[in-house]
Amino acid sequence: MECPNCGAVLDLANHGDLVFDGRVWCDRCHEYGRELIRPRDLKEIQAWSSMICQEFGFPPVLLEENPDPAVSRQDAPVLMAEAEHRRRSIRFYAPGYRLATLCHELAHIYTGQDHSRDWAMMFAQLVAWVKTRIAEDRGPQGFRARLSIYAGVPQRVY
Ligand SMILES: [Zn+2]
Ligand SMILES: [Zn+2]
Repeated sequence: MECPNCGAVLDLANHGDLVFDGRVWCDRCHEYGRELIRPRDLKEIQAWSSMICQEFGFPPVLLEENPDPAVSRQDAPVLMAEAEHRRRSIRFYAPGYRLATLCHELAHIYTGQDHSRDWAMMFAQLVAWVKTRIAEDRGPQGFRARLSIYAGVPQRVY
């Protein structure tokens, strides 16, 4: 697999250095949009998960919080969770409630595969779909897909 922009050979084992968005890119050529990597509540991620599963015709997936707080305290990479293919469950490690993480793990469950080529294509496809929903601000019911441009900007204090 090669980056469609610069032609670099992509090593799926080092998926943390790659960007899965429609296609698979090296991280020098492409990056995730802010909405894909900003942390969200578990409830919100659950709602996205149901929406994605429904759209792609997959049975629902169980999302769990990591029960061991010691693990969360380690220096967690931005995308952190693990999928149990057989149990169809995803366990998130804080700070792991991100849409990109969800798509990564759902792709494992949908394909039943590790970091394979099929998994990579599925991950990229899920991200692309989520992105269109964000662009249209059509998130799951009860949640805004996009933050207002003012959210997160500190209010000026006089
Ligand atoms: Zn590249
Ligand atoms: Zn993985």
